[in-house]
Amino acid sequence: MKYGSATLVINEKVKSMWDKGENIYHLGFGESRFPVHPLMAKALADNVHQHSYVPLQGIPELRQKVSKFYNRQFQLNSDESQVIVGVGSKSLLYAVMHSLPGDVILPVPAWVSYKDQAELNGRRVITFDLDRANGFEVSIKALAKARRLAKPGPCMLVLTNPNNPTGTILSQDNVQKTAEYCRDNQIYILSDEIYSLLTHGGFQHTTPASFYPEGTIVLGGLSKILSLGGWRIGVAIVPKGLLGDNIIDGFRHIAGSIWSCVPAPIQYAAMTAYEGTSEIENFIFDCGSMHQIRTHYLYDQMCAMGIPCAAPQGAFYMYPNFNPWEDALKVKGIHSDYELGMHLLDNYEIAVLAGSEFMDDPQHYSVRLATSYIDAENEKAAISIVKAYKSNPDPHTFIQDHHPRLKALVQRLGEFISSVS
Ligand code: PLP
Repeated sequence: MKYGSATLVINEKVKSMWDKGENIYHLGFGESRFPVHPLMAKALADNVHQHSYVPLQGIPELRQKVSKFYNRQFQLNSDESQVIVGVGSKSLLYAVMHSLPGDVILPVPAWVSYKDQAELNGRRVITFDLDRANGFEVSIKALAKARRLAKPGPCMLVLTNPNNPTGTILSQDNVQKTAEYCRDNQIYILSDEIYSLLTHGGFQHTTPASFYPEGTIVLGGLSKILSLGGWRIGVAIVPKGLLGDNIIDGFRHIAGSIWSCVPAPIQYAAMTAYEGTSEIENFIFDCGSMHQIRTHYLYDQMCAMGIPCAAPQGAFYMYPNFNPWEDALKVKGIHSDYELGMHLLDNYEIAVLAGSEFMDDPQHYSVRLATSYIDAENEKAAISIVKAYKSNPDPHTFIQDHHPRLKALVQRLGEFISSVS
């Protein structure tokens, strides 16, 4: 058995194909590719001399900035004692699952690592389907059914909002109803909000912590909003009181035994991100807009081809399904979403991730498309994309003049649809 997150595996595969000179349109990996903001680069360079171990839970000054940032952005009422700084939000998710009791409930499609993390923690996973017909919202009825299947006593629900893989955002009303149901039914919410600042125009992110602060753990970080995935810094805001204290204890146990602390220079540099500097906040906003334009262009083209797909509302993902072509796919020997992904890669140079990697039914023929890599495959391309957007943010010009590969990809996708139509 080969372990490793499916997203990282496809990324390694595409990179080795690129190294061999092959042309691949890489929609398989959700890494925000925009360049490091100069203020972040300077902050890291200025702190390269910070070579001592720092506190396990994170540098107090950074934790204070993080709590103020979240209070300002999402109207929370946290303080620094509730903030934990981890090696990416993955480490925090793991520590939270380790520290809380009970089964783990996952709405499907579910981001690739949740199930592995639950299993590594010896937790039983219970799933329920998000409401596809209704923008992938949480059906309280389906959640209640999953709750009945879980062991009595407290358990956990992981909510991803904005969602990976669907790119949709839960409405405020749905978040509120879900939070209230969880409060009444002994369910803690692990609220994965890593994409919370990458909402598309008009869509607002709501955190369940505003309705259920005593039972919600908010997870975030800099990987997506500032394209700093490789810096490996994530943050969690835990509830005040005993629940939060238990999570912090659990985290201290794990971090103290395995990695000690997030590298000190990274933590010092992260203060610049959480300080609330308008230059950084504007950059985050621009990155969200660029993701939006790129993702919506592909969405519009897919709609024109008749490919069913929920409209993207945040992050840089879409989750189309190719069910309408099921018969033709079967004639070609394609019997699952995985085989569809392989077919797209082998015949159309398009890398995607099959929906079954997100615990979905392979017969739905759903795949996840991430637009973050396209036309930003290397540092030079990524820098020129940002430059182009700054000089003219008009969506039409931005796509037509600066996204040759995105347009070529659309053509390849069209050729595939013709081949099955
Ligand atoms: N949560 C979701 C939904 C993600 O898509 C990712 C990264 O792809 C993560 C968490 C992990 O992010 P980090 O880099 O903070 O560990």
